[in-house]
Amino acid sequence: MRTQRFELLRPHEILHEKSIRPIVYLPVGPLEWHGPAMPIGTDPLIAEAVARQSASYTGGVVMPTLYVGTERERSASLLEAKGFDDTSQYIVGMDVPRNCIRSLYSKEDVFGMMIREFLNLLVKQGYLLIVIVNAHMATGQVNTLQRQAVEFSNETDSAVSVFSPNIPLDETDLDQGHGTIRETSMMMFLNPDSVDLKQFPDKPVRLKNTDWGIADSCTFALQPNEDKTIVYDPRDSEAQLGGFYIQRAVDSLVRQVESDWESITTSQHS
Ligand SMILES: [Zn+2]
Repeated sequence: MRTQRFELLRPHEILHEKSIRPIVYLPVGPLEWHGPAMPIGTDPLIAEAVARQSASYTGGVVMPTLYVGTERERSASLLEAKGFDDTSQYIVGMDVPRNCIRSLYSKEDVFGMMIREFLNLLVKQGYLLIVIVNAHMATGQVNTLQRQAVEFSNETDSAVSVFSPNIPLDETDLDQGHGTIRETSMMMFLNPDSVDLKQFPDKPVRLKNTDWGIADSCTFALQPNEDKTIVYDPRDSEAQLGGFYIQRAVDSLVRQVESDWESITTSQHS
């Protein structure tokens, strides 16, 4: 294949690839604040890189990345865990008041309709396996994708699966945060120019959740550290570690797609 990017393919190339394996990847994620040191497209860019690399092993095509995603208002208990004094304030997603720009979040119902429309279009194109790759782990985002994946898999001739590149190393791995070491390392690996850690103060100043719009997974689990600062400090990030995480996600996605594809071909022949 010359390329697996759908937007760069000619009609007969699309038909040829589909005749070999009717698989399509759909990377999805919002343009979202990830702290001052990280690009606004962090989640969709990670999803895109993992989808493209996986497709090079499994075959199939990769749709242009859908830069959409959703977030909701934060609960009082999460605002408290993050260290806000006023836990009644209206804060959506990672958009803490001190951020200099707002994220481009879609409302949950609008996001659902956009995903539904794209899934419909891909079903009509005749893809038997549609793989949504999503690195934005907001509850509303994940639930919407999973709900529609189940629905489409049962109500159409296509199977839809959802994959997240944020795979914990083991049960003790708590670096699943937002703009913390893992994501920052992955972006340093994928696009070194896009990360500028000098946007943070030098150590030993600790980074407060309320100041930077980033957060650890322990904070999301309502178990922050005592001074409500970042544990998995993005200033400790390394490109090499990011490369390890990306490769691990690609390997896992390839396994998932091969297994899904085998189920589809087995059910066709039985
Ligand atoms: Zn992210």
